[in-house]
Amino acid sequence: MNAYILHEINQLTYKQTDRPIPGPGEVLLQVKAAGICGSDIPRIYRTGAHIHPLIPGHEFSGIVIKAGEQADVIYREHLSVSRRDCPSQSEPLTGKRMGVFPLIPCGCCSQCREGRYELCRTYSYLGSRRNGGFAEFALVPAANLIEIPKSVSFEEAAMLEPMAVAVHAMRRANLTPSDTIAICGLGTIGLLLLLFLQEAGFSNILAIGNKHIQQQLAIQNGLPEACYCDSRQQNAGEWLMEQTGGQGASTFFECVGKEETASLAVDSTAPEGQIVLVGNPHSDIGLEQDIYWKILRNQLTIRGTWNSSFTHSADDDWHYVLNRLEQKRIRPGCLITHRFSLAELERGMHIMRDKSEEYGKIMGSL
Ligand SMILES: [Zn+2]
Ligand SMILES: [Zn+2]
Repeated sequence: MNAYILHEINQLTYKQTDRPIPGPGEVLLQVKAAGICGSDIPRIYRTGAHIHPLIPGHEFSGIVIKAGEQADVIYREHLSVSRRDCPSQSEPLTGKRMGVFPLIPCGCCSQCREGRYELCRTYSYLGSRRNGGFAEFALVPAANLIEIPKSVSFEEAAMLEPMAVAVHAMRRANLTPSDTIAICGLGTIGLLLLLFLQEAGFSNILAIGNKHIQQQLAIQNGLPEACYCDSRQQNAGEWLMEQTGGQGASTFFECVGKEETASLAVDSTAPEGQIVLVGNPHSDIGLEQDIYWKILRNQLTIRGTWNSSFTHSADDDWHYVLNRLEQKRIRPGCLITHRFSLAELERGMHIMRDKSEEYGKIMGSL
């Protein structure tokens, strides 16, 4: 099969390699769509992955081509009770269209035993700790599969992971309808968060971006123009204060991961408000003393969020997303600005690395 193989930092090659054979409890998936995540770029070009050689890519979907021993049994054991009763579940796994939860929990630690897989400390991960989806075929544990109905496209299914991450952040914040919500950083996660907040009925949303395409995508998706701030053109902190009558946002989603936006978050959150830290940190993040004081004096709550919940129950983050995709209440495809074949996918990685042009989601369609 053809695959991208990361041999070491900044040494990615597209080449022929053996098609893997599914072991017990695993399936071989023919990859149909694979998105490039922002985190893939430093992993491939700057920091390297946990192991090399590695096939990167953790946002993907496809068709089950082959099921290893016991894979069918394990898949069905993990289904939620409601889905287990569905007649199609007695069909074999082979031929099913699937989305993929990329985190492989240890299953033994106390967090795993409670189904809080995102908190597992000894997890494995497709595309960073073991081979992922930038290939024609990928091995996936049967317990990590989520079946997608015909009405959901492979591209949409390849965006289940970033959507679930956005939903996880949203659901970890205890939001109330009257909240004034700020989203700082409109990369894929920030934009998806905007879509899911709107879908959930929140209307007081203020968004801060710094690219023309982000403004365009946010406004196309229903954000009033007056609720968007381009931080290159105006001081985002002053703008937020003006928009909130000097109060600040009651919930501030930080989706950038830089010192200046972390400090903007503290500075622009209302008394008793909360900050949800979503963006992966680019480097060390420090706060000036008078900013730090505001955490205390404003009695702010700072909440971290990581990954997403996939417990197979009907209300985990992945099923929350899948339900809304099925009902066409969320259309993530509108965020895709570039599509490449697998052989050309590295062009997409270069666009994201070099920022040679503006982009939303960059998708490999196979
Ligand atoms: Zn990702
Ligand atoms: Zn664990």
